[in-house]
Amino acid sequence: MQECNSCGKCCTKYSDGGLSVTEDEIAIWEIFNPELMDYVKDGKIWMHPQKGNQLTLCPWLRKAPNKNIYTCDIYEDRPDDCKFYPVTIQQMKDDECEMLQSADLAQPIKAQIALDRLMSDSRPPLKKG
Ligand code: SF4
Ligand code: SF4
Repeated sequence: MQECNSCGKCCTKYSDGGLSVTEDEIAIWEIFNPELMDYVKDGKIWMHPQKGNQLTLCPWLRKAPNKNIYTCDIYEDRPDDCKFYPVTIQQMKDDECEMLQSADLAQPIKAQIALDRLMSDSRPPLKKG
């Protein structure tokens, strides 16, 4: 298991309707990040500010010039769905997350423990069962 290398695959895959936010997160944005609310409609993200339809790509995703490195313009205020990713080894396999290394595939239980440790600043460990 290695640190995230900002390949952007997760943001690209999930930001066109695969992310959700809670009412509490929206309430906080309404007070502290009203600019984000332009992209929220009926509790869904990320929506076109004028047309109201689902965007195909997160408006806060930025690609570094001449590099395959992506950053988030709202990193500190991003949704919990983004903060918590990745959650499981299977999800990482499905998404071809580049944190995953070949040794992790051979020992998925150990890899999950390593992942939870790496993510401990962002989310609680995966609950079993
Ligand atoms: S809000 Fe940030 S972390 Fe979430 S999908 Fe957009 S760019 Fe990625
Ligand atoms: S897919 Fe994995 S390595 Fe790539 S940006 Fe997302 S968390 Fe990081």
